[in-house]
Amino acid sequence: MTVQEILRQCEDLYNDIDFAYVRDWKTRHGAGAIGYMPVYVPRELIRAAGMLPVGIMGAGDLLEIIKGDAYFQSYICHIPRSTIEMGVSNRLDCLDGMLFPAICDVIRNLSGMWKLLFPGKYAKYVDFPQNFDAELGGTFYRHELRGLLADFARISGREISNDDINEAIVLYNENRRVIRELYALRVERPHLVPTYEMYLILRASNILDVAEHTALMRDYLTATLREERPVRDNIRIVLTGAFCEQPPLGLIRALENSGCNIVDDDWMLGARYMPDDIPVTADAIGALTDAYLTGTVATASKYEEDGNKGAYLISQVTRSGADGVIFAAPSFCDPALLERPMQQEALKREKIPYTSFKYSEDTGQYQVIREQTGTFADAIKLWGDA
Ligand code: SF4
Repeated sequence: MTVQEILRQCEDLYNDIDFAYVRDWKTRHGAGAIGYMPVYVPRELIRAAGMLPVGIMGAGDLLEIIKGDAYFQSYICHIPRSTIEMGVSNRLDCLDGMLFPAICDVIRNLSGMWKLLFPGKYAKYVDFPQNFDAELGGTFYRHELRGLLADFARISGREISNDDINEAIVLYNENRRVIRELYALRVERPHLVPTYEMYLILRASNILDVAEHTALMRDYLTATLREERPVRDNIRIVLTGAFCEQPPLGLIRALENSGCNIVDDDWMLGARYMPDDIPVTADAIGALTDAYLTGTVATASKYEEDGNKGAYLISQVTRSGADGVIFAAPSFCDPALLERPMQQEALKREKIPYTSFKYSEDTGQYQVIREQTGTFADAIKLWGDA
């Protein structure tokens, strides 16, 4: 496959807000599908039940919001409106349930709204411990996972064994491994993995069966290494804050065209929340619990000790050899915007330049942002800071 063929497939998946792939997968496999909101859910358990995990990240700029606005006040982000709009327009009726991870009050409220709107469908608010002690948070999380497992067994109508979970862990480990390879290649030779392409390839993980997605990424790696691509005089950027509501595709392209090679980011974080392999053991639930307690990356919805905010961002900059940071957060996103002052302080201490903007998933005008990030890139190129 060529890069263009792979991208066309990913663009089709991105643009299909009727989820034809999911409907087809269900028919072919005679099995269910469970949707989940950002940032992270243990997809291994859904897969172990023989079902398809489906990442739902709103409808971007692909859907006019007609009813969704009526369910929320004005001053919150956009993703719950478009998710409701997709729900009430029957686009998500291919899902046999929805998971709402504990990330912020908006998602919590959305889970309640979902239960009221779709009383016949399974909807679960998934709580994550903010205490990372094995005895405290670990015990709680094990209990949560066992509850999910029982729910998935009921929905799928099959017992889920330890081997089933381990099989899923192996599949996702392989997926994580190829994602690591992709990210490493982008750090080493960013011109071979343009941001627009990287985003689309990762975004496909929301929909595709995990084995199919791993194969797609491998095909892309092979194809892009074969291509001759121009090396641009771009600065290297870490983009942060976009872990939930996603910027529209046009904006992602505009960032790249403004002279920024994004060498690390936090979008599509669910696929990379646990970057390392999870061991295969006789206690698969225990392995998933340990991975959550000790092996997840930092993000705004996860508790960190006082004074530690910003440390992970600094490590992203250092690891990727970035010249600066772009804070890109959805408008009214409390988690992203509340942690930004601490992150900015950390960057100032390290003399790392940064700039920031806000977006909405249906932002239509990119020119102002493009000029801002273009000026940021020029300032770094000319003077080494902004
Ligand atoms: S964009 Fe931010 S505020 Fe909105 S649902 Fe996501 S995390 Fe919550």
